[in-house]
Amino acid sequence: MRYLVLSDIHANLEALEAVLDAARALPHDRVLVLGDLVGYGADPNAVVDRVRGLSPHAVIRGNHDKVGAGLESPEAFNTVARAAIRWTYEALSDDNRDWLAELPAGPVAIDELVEICHGTPFDEDVYVFDDTDVLRSMEASSRRVCLFGHTHVQVGYRLWQQSLTLETADPRRPLPIAFGDGHYLINPGSVGQPRDGDPRAGFGIYDAARQSLEIHRTPYPIERTQARIREAGLPEALAQRLAIGR
Ligand code: ZN
Repeated sequence: MRYLVLSDIHANLEALEAVLDAARALPHDRVLVLGDLVGYGADPNAVVDRVRGLSPHAVIRGNHDKVGAGLESPEAFNTVARAAIRWTYEALSDDNRDWLAELPAGPVAIDELVEICHGTPFDEDVYVFDDTDVLRSMEASSRRVCLFGHTHVQVGYRLWQQSLTLETADPRRPLPIAFGDGHYLINPGSVGQPRDGDPRAGFGIYDAARQSLEIHRTPYPIERTQARIREAGLPEALAQRLAIGR
C-alpha cells in the first residue's frame, strides 16, 4: 500500500494541482490529508471539492479548518490569518463548511506503523518547535511513526537509543527515509504555503510495504496563486510570502 500524504494545502489550488500531477508518476493507492485544507488562499471551495473528489482514506482537521467551518472563533489568529479566515468562512459553500466541520481531530492511526496528526498527537493545535516538543510528540504517539503538519516545514526526526537525529537535513530531494528501529516524527511539508525557504509545494509518499517515506517538492505557478489572492482582496502579505516560501 502506498499513500500520498498531503498537508497544509491552504486553499492553494495551483499548488494542489501541481502536486497531484507530480504524484501521477509516483504510484499510490490512497490519500492522507493532515489538515488545513483552507485558510490564507483564495480557492477554499475548489480545494475542498478537489480533495473530496480524491476520496481520501483519512482526512483530519487543522486549526484553519476548525475556524473556517465556524467551530472556533478566530481570536487566537494573528491579524493577517484572522482577515483571511473571516473571508474563508464567508466564501465557503454551506456544504463544504459542513464537511469541514465534521472532519475528525487527529491523531488517527493509519496502520500498525503510522499515525497522522495536525499539530502534535497530544494537542492538534500545538506547533513542534524544539526537541522537547519532538520528544513529547513521540511519547504521545500510538505508533512508531507519526506524520504531522502545522509548521509548514519539511522535516523529520528519529529517536533511537536515546539519541535524537534529524532525518531530512539534507538539501537533496526527494529523500526517502527508510524506517529503522526507534521512533520517527515527520512533517512531509506544506502543499500550499511552505515556510522553510523553499517555495515549491511539499508532499510525501508513504510506502507501507517498504516501510519508507519519500518527501518531495514540486514547482507550481506561484504568480497565478498570487493573482488569485489579490483578486480576492486577501492581505497582500499572503501573496508575497508564497514567492519566498516563508
Ligand atoms: Zn497550516
